[in-house]
Amino acid sequence: MDTRVNLLDLDLEGLAAFCEGLGEKRFRATQLYRWIHQRGASQFEAMTDLARSLRDKLATRAEVRALPVISEHTSADGTVKWLFDVGGGNAVETVFIPEVDRGTLCVSSQAGCAVGCRFCSTGHQGFSRNLTTGEIVAQLWFAEHRLRAVRGGTERQIDNVVMMGMGEPLQNYGALVPALRTMLDDHGYGLSRRRVTVSTSGVVPMIDRLRGDCPVALAVSLHAPDDVLREHLVPLNRKYPLAELLAACQRYLDAAPRDFITFEYCMLDGVNDTPAHAQALVELVQGRADASRAVGAVRCKFNLIPFNPFPASGLVRSPRERVLAFADVLQKAGIVTTIRKTRGDDIDAACGQLAGEVQDRTQARERLSQRRAVFDIVPVSAARP
Ligand code: SAH
Ligand code: SF4
Repeated sequence: MDTRVNLLDLDLEGLAAFCEGLGEKRFRATQLYRWIHQRGASQFEAMTDLARSLRDKLATRAEVRALPVISEHTSADGTVKWLFDVGGGNAVETVFIPEVDRGTLCVSSQAGCAVGCRFCSTGHQGFSRNLTTGEIVAQLWFAEHRLRAVRGGTERQIDNVVMMGMGEPLQNYGALVPALRTMLDDHGYGLSRRRVTVSTSGVVPMIDRLRGDCPVALAVSLHAPDDVLREHLVPLNRKYPLAELLAACQRYLDAAPRDFITFEYCMLDGVNDTPAHAQALVELVQGRADASRAVGAVRCKFNLIPFNPFPASGLVRSPRERVLAFADVLQKAGIVTTIRKTRGDDIDAACGQLAGEVQDRTQARERLSQRRAVFDIVPVSAARP
């Protein structure tokens, strides 16, 4: 068995401790970390400003272990989707979404997901395993340096990371936090806290821990204005009902790098998409519903996601007019609302509903072909036909 340490598993503190164990000073760890994350190096031999003795030690004790790439697809609109092999017949997907002024990477945190939301194909697959820190970071490491190579430059390609790929990041907390630190570290990817977003279905205790350990932008997948409907769509709501979830959001805002929480809301035809649901949501987030009176108004924005259908869900996407009417109710109540626009249709890329088992290619292909797209965010006014 290979016992070499994967350096992608370590944040800068971890790397400093590792280097100390090799009898090296901290600034050597910083040099090494910059070689790996800023320059995309994986061969110690190439790190010419490190002493030969250190390079030799590293070669026997450590490695930069990337994820094997199964496929890379580029959409006509520039969206790029990679499928990575994480072993045991499992794969995870990572999606790059280019925009005029920035690039966003949608990163996976688990193979499968244990939360089991009704409308999510990752949830329908069940849970395989948590990704390691190194496997989370490897997605960014590979994408950033691959894009630089393809586009021919040394400029940063990825300015935003959203933890909205496969899996529930807050159910893989131990691996997530060091990965976030590497994304944020000035010697790593140097991303702003406002531009790294953790998206969660509502793991309340971990929202509180994240606030203390590594506050970044927070997106909460709401999907329903009351506990009865939310329990049906997001089973985790039984454990952490809306009153507790909103209270955790309120606490998070004290430390958050942004002064609002983004609420995601997947629009399901005839399930959660009527004007009455929208009105109930307004009351919920403005502190006027039973679940929120004790919490008060939560500063927030809404992101409406037209549902991406897949056969096993038995659910249908809300018609466009209903999404617009829903957005109107929220906006008239003074809540900034965006609708995600589909991207990458031609390559079947979609955040939050990705990937299948590598072994089961036929089924995976069928599943993927049912998926529609990755989204980007456009203001409601601009999204009108
Ligand atoms: N587990 C986390 C992050 C991954 S899912 C979470 O649930 O927030 C990322 C986003 O994709 C979530 O808002 C989720 O609700 C949404 N999503 C999942 N399946 C979807 C589907 N079939 N159509 C549209 N959005 C979906
Ligand atoms: Fe898991 Fe998020 Fe999908 Fe729910 S929506 S099953 S939490 S990945």
